[in-house]
Amino acid sequence: MLSEGTPAMRLRCSRRARSDSVRSAMTRYVHLFSDPPATQVKELLGGKGAGLAEMTRLGIPVPPGLTITTEACRAAYASGGTWPSTLRAEVLAALLVVEQGLDARFGDTTQPLLLSVRSGARVSMPGMMDTILNVGLNDATVEALAARTNDRRFAFDAYRRFVTMYGGVVLGIDRHLFETELSDLKRSLGNPSMPDPEVPVDALERLVARLKALVLEHAGKPFPSDPHEQLWGAVAAVFESWNSKRAVTYRRMYNYPDDWGTAVSVQSMVFGNMGDDCGTGVAFTRNPSNGERLLYGEYLLNAQGEDVVAGIRTPKAIAAVSSPRGRESESLERALPDVYAQFVAVAARLETHFRDVQDIEFTIQRGKLWLLQTRNGKRTGRAAVRIAIDMVDEGLITTDEAVLRVDPSAAEQLLHPRVPEPERLAKEGIVALASGLPASPGAATGIIVFDADDAVRTAKDGTKVVLVRGETSPEDIHGMKAAQGILTAMGGMTSHAAVVARGMGKCCVAGVSDMHVDVRAGKLIVRAHGGRAERTFVRGDVLTLDGTFGKVYAGEVPVEPAASVPGFDRLMAWVDAARRLRVRANADTPKGARDARAFGAEGIGLCRTEHMFFAADRLSAVRCVVLAGTPEDRNKWLAEIEPMQRQDFVEIFRAMAGLPVTIRLLDWPLHEFMPREPAEMAQIAAALGESVEVVSRRAELLHELNPMLGHRGARLGLTHPDIYAAQARAIIEAACIVVAEGLEVLPEIMIPVVMLAEELTRIEATVRSAAETVFAARGQRVPYLFGTMIELPRACIVADKIAASAEFFSFGTNDLTQTTLGVSRDDAGHFLPDYLGEGLRVLTRDPFASIDRDGVGALVQMACERGRSARPDIKLGICGEHGGDPSSIAFFEEVGLAYVSCSPFRVPIARLAAAQASLRGKK
Ligand code: PEP
Ligand code: MG
Repeated sequence: MLSEGTPAMRLRCSRRARSDSVRSAMTRYVHLFSDPPATQVKELLGGKGAGLAEMTRLGIPVPPGLTITTEACRAAYASGGTWPSTLRAEVLAALLVVEQGLDARFGDTTQPLLLSVRSGARVSMPGMMDTILNVGLNDATVEALAARTNDRRFAFDAYRRFVTMYGGVVLGIDRHLFETELSDLKRSLGNPSMPDPEVPVDALERLVARLKALVLEHAGKPFPSDPHEQLWGAVAAVFESWNSKRAVTYRRMYNYPDDWGTAVSVQSMVFGNMGDDCGTGVAFTRNPSNGERLLYGEYLLNAQGEDVVAGIRTPKAIAAVSSPRGRESESLERALPDVYAQFVAVAARLETHFRDVQDIEFTIQRGKLWLLQTRNGKRTGRAAVRIAIDMVDEGLITTDEAVLRVDPSAAEQLLHPRVPEPERLAKEGIVALASGLPASPGAATGIIVFDADDAVRTAKDGTKVVLVRGETSPEDIHGMKAAQGILTAMGGMTSHAAVVARGMGKCCVAGVSDMHVDVRAGKLIVRAHGGRAERTFVRGDVLTLDGTFGKVYAGEVPVEPAASVPGFDRLMAWVDAARRLRVRANADTPKGARDARAFGAEGIGLCRTEHMFFAADRLSAVRCVVLAGTPEDRNKWLAEIEPMQRQDFVEIFRAMAGLPVTIRLLDWPLHEFMPREPAEMAQIAAALGESVEVVSRRAELLHELNPMLGHRGARLGLTHPDIYAAQARAIIEAACIVVAEGLEVLPEIMIPVVMLAEELTRIEATVRSAAETVFAARGQRVPYLFGTMIELPRACIVADKIAASAEFFSFGTNDLTQTTLGVSRDDAGHFLPDYLGEGLRVLTRDPFASIDRDGVGALVQMACERGRSARPDIKLGICGEHGGDPSSIAFFEEVGLAYVSCSPFRVPIARLAAAQASLRGKK
């Protein structure tokens, strides 16, 4: 979907009445945890706010607090950085209510209330946004805290943590500087590796003073001592963290829109760092990596939340069985058995209540358990499948709900080996060398080669290779097949390399604009991380490709294998029962057709006949057709190709017996088939019996500046009717042969790149007459459909006229995107990453991967309506690459297409996405 990105900005609180005050007065921006449930609860309160409110309602111990809604965040961004004028009063009023239930007041110097200020979007974005704990501490309140708790050490420990967090998150000072102060302090105490809890109180007091001096030095102003100023600074920082670099990157990765905004939960603090009967931890109610039904989590005694996640101390297991052998006594189960028992009961209750795996954060203060968060837990694809199936068996959810529980992109992980996510690798110090488009998912490690023949030679003895090209051409096909993965400097999501790689289920990263391939010199030059420093790789160097996230890594990166998941077939049976959309595959070869059927395809939605010519033995015959000097010569070469095509169709029809097969007549971007090297030209000239000069001149005359908008598709069919007639004959003959074998064949002949109804009328005459010739010759008839691709804006506009000849439409959304946006699908890689990335953020999704609903989608809808108006029973489908994209599939469900068609390896994902779209539609 195209949508405007939101620029980063500094947010501020307005005390002025603003023109939006009327609207603000009506809109409520603050909800107490204890308020009655709101509607659209997650959208409004974020996952965290919603979970806290629901737990409060259930009577589970939750420190009281309030949530500032995502609407307030959106309003702040929409107004250019000033948040709603009523927000301050609403928060203060809600704080009064919070205080009533506690014997503490925010800012009070004898009974101070401390707050945590935490982010929470409607979906969990773990670690992507900011949190500030212990808000409200200053030189006076710290003394009160020390007196009240009778623990001066604890109070100053909280204070130094607060100054560090606030200095880093709100004031933007490098956190490392604060940490260095702590390390220096430990060194000055004679023990550089002194555990935090052992730093004595007087040293902590000195440390706080030092940290505040650091703030003055770097922020140019003293550390704020006014608790209210601290609170608003923290709230603004959390709102701003919605647009932090990591949050934006995360949203891009998972296609979350920029305009959701984050909520802010402001909660009274409980402390896990008050002694050995205190602690903090995180847990999942089931194992999020394999789905096993076992409480899975970690905790630390005498610590605050960030200690668990920051890796400063090594957390311990919650359950004794999950502890390393011999260390069971460190588990929460053994250390604090009563708390453990309470925790297990609460975790089970939450899971049953929410009917999903819960990701829980908790704190233990002086032996009492407090819940700080519960949300549906993120899980791997493998875990998602297992948990969904188990929960059906446990009677917790229905089969339809199980279908909705498995995220299609997580399920996609199951079908391909994969490189761990970039953030996970970053934690291990492995950073990508460069980024491109995630053109075809999977992982590939191998030595790089720059030429397809080399790929085949090298791979013969089992050596793994990665084929690196500036761009790919049909001649590379054998090299692509032999390689583990394909890396190209140019091209977009629908470039030749991407389409072919997806068809093969092979990993591909395309359009890596920071990379230059010098094939002749045998060099790959990469501007690492988009910077100035260049790294050069030569043949034989090892690279790893991550086709799922579009990353390139130097050397070998550990790859996780494709998993076979028990129960997957059961889940897919529920999927198939739930969906309305049929799912076909784009396949051009008999093997592709067989693979597609094995993945559950219900027919072929696109057989690109030009792909059938990629094989070396056919390529020269095709080139002779293109470069023949006379119609007679052309027909001679066509006659050579016709039996080969017929045989392919026969095998494809057999593989797809009983299911529809849409065969598209030739649509070659001519340049892809032109001989490039002098030796190839010489070979074609020899075959044609003409001189190299004559044939080269002919090739020059055919040269097009914009081949994608050139002499292709229906235009070729009209100017060279012999070609389409020969193809139609081959299809109909093949259908007759297979029908004669007793199998059912449902051929659909499809014409590409149609812009005028008249083009289709004339081509229909050619095709139908070729079919009649075959029927007459064989004395046999087979039913077939005649239809067209809709892939140009004009075709959408005149779809009613086109429907006069077309019995079906199949949307070619690759070309339709290219021509609607005016963006070349092969050159998009030059600027789209910038449009999508950090810098410009003009687009949130690649329109070649996920349908641009507002533009291309509107045209698709118009064409459906106009097509149906002229021919009510017209069959409508889509065969562009969007046919395998879950969010585009949701759109195709909305407009009521009959089927989507995608590469064979994406068929299971498309089935799942189609089922989810149906179920959501019913809701
Ligand atoms: C399309 O344009 O969407 C399509 C399927 O055709 P091709 O990618 O072969 O141009
Ligand atoms: Mg097309």
